[in-house]
Order: sequence, then structure tokens, then C-alpha cells
Amino acid sequence: MRAFGADTRLPTVALVLDLLRERTTVSRVELAEATGLTRATITNAVRKLIDLGFVHEVGTARSQRGTPRRLLELQPKACHMVGVQFDSYAAVAVVVDLAGAVVARRELPAPGGRDPDAVVPEFAALVRDLLASAGLARPDVLGIGLATYGPQDRDAGVLLTPQPTPAWQGYPLAAALAEATGLPVAIENDATAAGIGAQTPGDPQPNFAVVFMSGGIGAGLIIDGRPYRGATSNGLELGHISVDSEGPRCVCGNRGCVDGVAGPVAVTDRARSDPALAARLGLVGDPLADFRSVAAAAAAGDPEAGALIGVSTRALAVAVVSMVNLLDVGRVVLVGNAFADIGPVYRQALQDEVDRAVFMRHVHEVRVELAADVSCAAAVGAAMVVLRNLLESPNVGDRPAEG
Ligand SMILES: [Zn+2]
Repeated sequence: MRAFGADTRLPTVALVLDLLRERTTVSRVELAEATGLTRATITNAVRKLIDLGFVHEVGTARSQRGTPRRLLELQPKACHMVGVQFDSYAAVAVVVDLAGAVVARRELPAPGGRDPDAVVPEFAALVRDLLASAGLARPDVLGIGLATYGPQDRDAGVLLTPQPTPAWQGYPLAAALAEATGLPVAIENDATAAGIGAQTPGDPQPNFAVVFMSGGIGAGLIIDGRPYRGATSNGLELGHISVDSEGPRCVCGNRGCVDGVAGPVAVTDRARSDPALAARLGLVGDPLADFRSVAAAAAAGDPEAGALIGVSTRALAVAVVSMVNLLDVGRVVLVGNAFADIGPVYRQALQDEVDRAVFMRHVHEVRVELAADVSCAAAVGAAMVVLRNLLESPNVGDRPAEG
């Protein structure tokens, strides 16, 4: 499906890099044929990538007319990017190479109810350790992508919400982590990052939506390979779509938000309200750990745990049908650590409801899929944002200053 406008296409340099990630070696002529761009445009983009050290010429291949074509090859180890995804309940960091492969990963302590002044130095120290363990020095790293919840001011690098404590509201998150690590930091909506991380080079269906579930529920949209960010990069707050107009008032102001019915915090709050059930399931008061316990019990046939998961899957399915009806996407990808164990149950429940209720189901198929790595995709996407920011900047080709 290519129902969206061509103005969303990636800039040429990013497009060429994506093709190099997809194919082992490729000539400029093949790049021109694959993209429909002129030889001159491709030559210019390739020169920038060679100047950055991202691409090398690696010999020649004979063309049909007998003229040798110089082959180009991606240099995956030419640089690395760090991605961190966190919310109040979970945090993970990855190091990825230029090809998008994860070369190191680490769980970070969840912020919990702590202030950013305590959390940021801890993240910085653990990122430095992670880079050292991967044998990387600061000049080998383009920067850190930080994927987290909204609302946020992506350009300013600050969160616009007093969650989990008032000190987070307006805190200079990107600047503080940059100061503490000596690396440039870009922030990104976690669900948007999840969409970027769930992409694979050469994907024949580059239009899809993502449902991201960690402590809360969000969504992302990828159009022709690029993220849709909305007016202020706070788009697709799926968690605050109402599934009950008479439901309880959410902290956001809306009524009956799906996050308040289907999200891990809601599910585990409901489980803990029954002390006998909480004791039987061994709940410890950590929403994501407890959600996994409820999910595991449901999978093992516990009827009460199964009922709690059923409430969650049904509410999420209603919201996802609304999202698909609005966006007319052919694919919905589930990402986030809440799907780590119970992902297949949610995938099937959402697929069943999509097949039953999506308005355009007789026109085209809508597939619900689990991301290959549900726990790390948002962190990987955040890391790739650092690379995208470089490739989409007007002065791409100038090696960034090494600090
Ligand atoms: Zn809400």
C-alpha cells in the first residue's frame, strides 16, 4: 500500500544508506535504478557517505555493456549509536552499529519515583560502562537517542509532564545526559522510536502502525519508511483514546482511556485489589514485573488471571480497530517489554478483532505482528534516530565534531 504522499520520502542520503543496509554490495547504477533517482543525485549522496566513512568502494563488477561498475559496501563498524528507552517502570540501553545490529544491551534501573537529578547520572554511568564493555570510545559513537513518554518537547529535549515526579516537568533531560556523557543526546517519543526500531531495510510494506506497551500504552506510525510525528512530536497517544465515554476520568482529562483499562498498571492494580489473588500470583508491587506474573498465570490456565488479561486484550483491541479505521494501515506491529511473554496472546486477540471489525477488512488484509525484539526495538529505534538526524541535516557529509 502506498496511500500516502510522496513528500514523506526519506532524504536521498538516508535512502541510499537504507539500500546499502539491505544489500551487501551495490553499484551506483543499481542504486539509481532502485530509487528512480538520477545518477548525479546518487553520486552526490554516495560521495557524502564515503566522506563520512560509512561506505567504501570494494572493487568492480562487469555490467551487461561491459563497462565495469564500482561496487559500494556499507561499513557497519564505521560508527555506533546508543539508544535508551525508559519510563517509570523499566529502562534498557543498547548500542547499535551502522547496520542497525545490536552489539551490546543492558537493563538499567527503572527511575521509579526518583527525580531526574538522581536518574540521569546513573544512566550516564551505565551508558559509559556499556560502551566500554563493547570496546567503544566516545569518538566511535555518534550520540545517544533517548526514547521516553510524552508529552515532550523533542526540539528542546525536555519532558512536559510532571511524571513520575514534579521535578521531571521541564527538566533539561537531553542537555543533562549530554553533559554527563559528553555525547549529543536526542529525545524521541517512545512509540515513534519503537516504529523506527521495528523497521527492516527493504521492507515491502513501509507503512505500518505500532502499538507500544511498557508502563503505558502508546502508538507510532511509519509512512513510507518515515515516522509521522504530528504537530509537536506527540502524535498517536493511543493510550488516551477513550473506550468508554462513561468511564472513570483519566489523569489526562479524558474519560475511559484504554490505558486505564488495558495497560499493565490498570491490570496489576485490579489484581492487587484482590489480596488472595495477589498472594497467589506472588505480586510484588512493581507493575511490569506483576504484569508478567499475571500474564504467566493466565497462560498457565489461572481463570482469574485469564479474566484480567481478557479485559485488557478486549479494550486494547477496540482501540486498535479505531486506530486502523483512522489510518487505513495494512500492518500493526506490537512492541514493548509488556509484550515480552504474553505477546502471542495479545497478537491473536487483536488479529481476531481486526478481522471481525475493521471497516476496510474486505478491501485489504490487516496483519497484527509481534516485533522481532519487543523489549529492545524502541531503544534500537532511538539509536537510529541519532543516525537519521545526522543524515537528514542540511550539512550531512561534514563529520560531526568529536567532543
Ligand atoms: Zn487518558
